[in-house]
Amino acid sequence: MENKETQGLVNPLTRFQQPPYPKQQQPFPGLAGKMDPIPDHGETSYVGSGKLKGRKALITGGDSGIGRAAAIAYAREGADVAINYLPHEEEDAQEVIRYIEEAGQKGFAIPGDITDEAFCVQLVEDAVAHLGGLDILVNNAGKQKSHDSIEDIDSSDFDLTMKTNIYAPYWITKAALKHLKPGSAIIATSSVQAYDPSANLFDYAQTKAANVAYVKALSKQLGPKGIRVNGVSPGPIWTPLQICGGQPSDAIPEFGATAPLERAGQPVELAGVYVLLADTSSSYSHGQIVGVAGGYGHP
Ligand code: NAD
Ligand code: MG
Repeated sequence: MENKETQGLVNPLTRFQQPPYPKQQQPFPGLAGKMDPIPDHGETSYVGSGKLKGRKALITGGDSGIGRAAAIAYAREGADVAINYLPHEEEDAQEVIRYIEEAGQKGFAIPGDITDEAFCVQLVEDAVAHLGGLDILVNNAGKQKSHDSIEDIDSSDFDLTMKTNIYAPYWITKAALKHLKPGSAIIATSSVQAYDPSANLFDYAQTKAANVAYVKALSKQLGPKGIRVNGVSPGPIWTPLQICGGQPSDAIPEFGATAPLERAGQPVELAGVYVLLADTSSSYSHGQIVGVAGGYGHP
């Protein structure tokens, strides 16, 4: 199949809408389908070529944003995909399941709150039962809330960010390990915030640095078992996370404007990297963090 949206020479500056973006806010966790512009997760552009044929993936936060782009791409590359998300996101999630099924693959929607350890264990068991195994685990769900001052962050905010971004990947990975055979891949979603934190993302930035350490430490444990562990470090990407408290609402119109590529990235621009890190073609990439940041960042 030909992909008209990316064939030939495409200027990255003008491939997608540039700032200013319309000012907007949604209550957490937000819906991609209600954003303006609606993010591009590769629905009309991602073309697969069988790179993940027969593979079985679990993606947290697979309803929207970066996780959704990975889910659509994985299905078009031949994988069956289970996605986790919060019950409020059912609408986005059902669209993703439809795209997975349209790609001829099995899609499983498993809603639930990953800040709960018992749910994380159940999530993995349910995914394994539905998929008939598991060999790609993408720990991608995340919580980001902007606060101007450390004094504005109360312990419940801090706790929620830590539980979502650090504890959940720990619980989910621990539960998944017994199912992962040699050749399996684990992918974490970190951030440029791990390396160059913004003043207003004090708690979030710490969790994203923790995600880098997760990749570096776990890769040393799991390399000898033939399980690869890598991470992705996105820059400013146009997703619900940012318009439901991740950024101050005044910052939305110019989101990504100071990046060398002068715009926010779209989730589809990360799809190829998530495929690459899961795919056997990157079988010697291990313990790495790959940046997709419009020119920001230094993983
Ligand atoms: P997103 O809002 O589309 O995805 C985040 C997902 O996390 C949500 O869809 C939701 O399903 C899930 N989630 C949050 N709390 C949860 C909970 N308690 N239980 C279950 N699921 C929960 O936004 P996104 O930007 O695609 O975020 C994906 C990842 O990318 C996050 O880890 C985020 O930190 C990271 N990231 C995003 C950006 C960016 O600019 N958007 C930049 C760097 C890193
Ligand atoms: Mg979502």
